[in-house]
Parts: sequence; C-alpha cells; structure tokens
Amino acid sequence: MVDNVSDLLLDGNAAVRLLHDLFVPDITLAQIRCQECDTLRGVGSLVVHAAPMGAVLNCTDCDCVLMRAVQTPHGLWFEMAGARYLKF
Ligand SMILES: [Zn+2]
Repeated sequence: MVDNVSDLLLDGNAAVRLLHDLFVPDITLAQIRCQECDTLRGVGSLVVHAAPMGAVLNCTDCDCVLMRAVQTPHGLWFEMAGARYLKF
C-alpha cells in the first residue's frame, strides 16, 4: 500500500517505453481528431502546406491547423495544439 502520493511520482525516464511506442510507428497510419470540428481523419489525408523549414498540416474538413513541424538550427519542433489526440 502506498502511504504517500509522492511515492507514485517518477521522472520522465519512466515513460520512455510508452513514448517510444507512440513516436516510432509510421505516423501516416495514425488517426488524428480535430479540436475544432471533432473530425477523425488519417494523418496521411491532411492538407499540407510545406515550406523549406517545415510543414503545417490542416484539417481536411474545417482547415484548422492540426500540426506544425519545423526544423531550425536549434532543433526539431513539433506542435499539435489544434488536435485532441493521435490514435495509433
Ligand atoms: Zn477540423
């Protein structure tokens, strides 16, 4: 029995296996739910606006921005604030 809630808290390294399982599969096979219109679509079917530094992926139904990926000299940035979730 756990006497203290802080005994259940671990650092991010404890989630490595789960995160590995999330990010290694082919992302084009994942489904993404749009935060704005609640549509569930395959990532491979999204509308892409490509640029030299990265890409913006929009919802096929409402044109909301679902994902942004940018490669800069400081790293690879990935944001998906317009999506509720990805499902693999
Ligand atoms: Zn949408």
